[in-house]
Order: sequence, then C-alpha cells, then structure tokens
Amino acid sequence: MRIVLLGAPGSGKGTQSQRLVKRFGIPQISTGDLLRSAVARGTPLGVAAKQAMQAGKLVEDAIVLGMIRERLAEADAAQGFILDGFPRNLVQARALDEMLSELGRPLTHVVQLDVPYAELTRRISGRRNCPSCGAVYNIYSMPVGGQLHCSACDAKPPLVQRPDDNEATVVERLKVYESQTRPLIDYYAASGMLQFIDAQGDIDEITALLTHVLTAAPVEGVKVRRAGKKRKAKAKSKVKAKKKGKAKSKAKAKSKAKAKSKAKSKTNVKTKVKVRVKVKTKAKAKAKAKAKAKTKAKRAGRKTAKRRAKRPARKGRARR
Ligand code: AMP
Repeated sequence: MRIVLLGAPGSGKGTQSQRLVKRFGIPQISTGDLLRSAVARGTPLGVAAKQAMQAGKLVEDAIVLGMIRERLAEADAAQGFILDGFPRNLVQARALDEMLSELGRPLTHVVQLDVPYAELTRRISGRRNCPSCGAVYNIYSMPVGGQLHCSACDAKPPLVQRPDDNEATVVERLKVYESQTRPLIDYYAASGMLQFIDAQGDIDEITALLTHVLTAAPVEGVKVRRAGKKRKAKAKSKVKAKKKGKAKSKAKAKSKAKAKSKAKSKTNVKTKVKVRVKVKTKAKAKAKAKAKAKTKAKRAGRKTAKRRAKRPARKGRARR
C-alpha cells in the first residue's frame, strides 16, 4: 500500500497514520515530523526550515522534496508507506508522481479526512505530543483528570504542545491549507484515486472507517465518499484547463518576446542605415566644398595672371 492522507491541520492525519502503521506494518512518513527533528537537531536543513514553520508557512519545496526522496529510498519504504502532511501543494504532488513512477511504485490510495473548520481549531488547541516517541494525544479526548504523560513510553515523559499549535500560527496554517493544499483534492480526484471520509467523532470509528476504505470497496451505510463521476470530470477539466492556460500564456509570452526582438532589430537596422546615410552625406558635402574651393582658387589664379599681362612694363628709375 502506498497511501497519501490528505486533510487540514488537525484533521487527524498523524493520529490515524500511527494506527495504520500498527495495522499494516508500513512506515508513516510525516514531513512535519522529519522537519521538527531536523530543527531540534539544528541541522542546516532544520535551520533553513525553522522560520517558515514558526510562521505557519510552507517550507521550501526543494527542502521537502529532497527529504522525501531520501526517505522513500530507505529499505522500509519498499513495502509501502503512509504519507502524512505530504504533498502540501501541486508542485509537490507532481514531483511525487514523478518520483514514484521512476521507482515503478505509484500511489495506491489517496484519502481525504473531512473535518469542519470549528472542530479543526478545537482539536489543534487541545493537541499534545510526546517529546520522546512523537505519539499524539488530545486533552479533549482524554479521560477527565487523565495524566498528561505519554502512556506508550516507559519513562512516561510529560506531554508537550507543539510551538506552532498556538492560535495565531494556526490561523495562518489553515489559510495556507485553503490556498495551497486544498487544490490537491481536484488533482487526485482527476486521477480517480481519491476517497473521502467523514473524520469527525470517535477516533476508533474513524480508524475502522479508514481501514475499510483502504482494504475494500466502500460499504453502504458507511460514511465514505468516492470522488463521483461529476467531480472527477470537473477536476479533470480543471487540471486540463490549467495546463492549457499555462501553455497559452507561455505561447503568448513567446510570441510577444519574438515580436519585441523583431521590432528591436528593425529599429537597429533603421538607425544603422540612418547613421550610414548621415556619414555619406557628410563626406559628400566635404568633397563638394573642397572641389568648390579648388575651382575658386583656380579662377582667382587665372584672373591675377590676366591682370599682370595687361599691366604695362615698369620703367627703371634714372639714377641721379
Ligand atoms: P505538520 O506537522 O504536517 O502540521 O507540519 C508542520 C509544519 O511543517 C507546517 O506548518 C510546515 O511549516 C512544515 N511542513 C510540513 N510538511 C510540509 C510540506 N510537505 N511542505 C512544506 N512544509 C511542510
């Protein structure tokens, strides 16, 4: 199984992924976890990612894609994987498709976890994590008076809240989700692979539902939705239109650039010709003036000769 879990922050991708790991024995690959670990270790990659993460923005595609490429090449991923928090935008989704087709291991399932906005913010504010094993808990779904310690670790470390689970950052993360990640629904609907599940309510029920979706065809009465024919067709035409639009604008830009360079070369030729003509006329005028001066000088020379010829011969003075 090669699975992508889609959904907004707080939709339960992390929690459900951890359960699927136990059920199917394939690794969870969470870009959020990989990035947090890099930040905690202070690696160059972590340093580069830290600012964007704190601000609730997406980390650069090049960083995330490099990380995923390395992780997918590890031995445990050959049996399958659950991608959690990746891809987060269309560039990443396309790059993932390319990577997997190079490996000859395309995706088998894409599931969108649907949760209403109000529920998302409540879940994120109640989320607590184990700093040691990364297990996810929620104070709202824990037994009242329950201890805020990790029950999975022997040392029972106290749970912590992620630094980006604060109110201001959550608003930004949800905005980023709407603008950059939600369009992936159309992308995967067009491929015919996308399934939706209603991810509200009891965590165990959601896990059962998800397991069902991943192992069998959806059963009647269960809250599973496949991207219908209409949605698929719509998504396909949207993706096509986007591609066409891009190609059109590219062609437009190309022809514009061509026309511009043509016009430029034309004016260049024109100015060159103009300059040449100017040079020519200047040289002509100079030559003309020279010739004129020559004939003038000639004429003047002839006149003085004539005048000399007409003058009577000078007589010598008598000496006293
Ligand atoms: P998550 O644990 O999935 O909510 O991710 C936490 C933060 O890590 C996000 O708000 C982003 O800043 C960053 N992040 C995680 N996954 C990605 C991704 N695929 N692309 C870009 N940034 C990511």
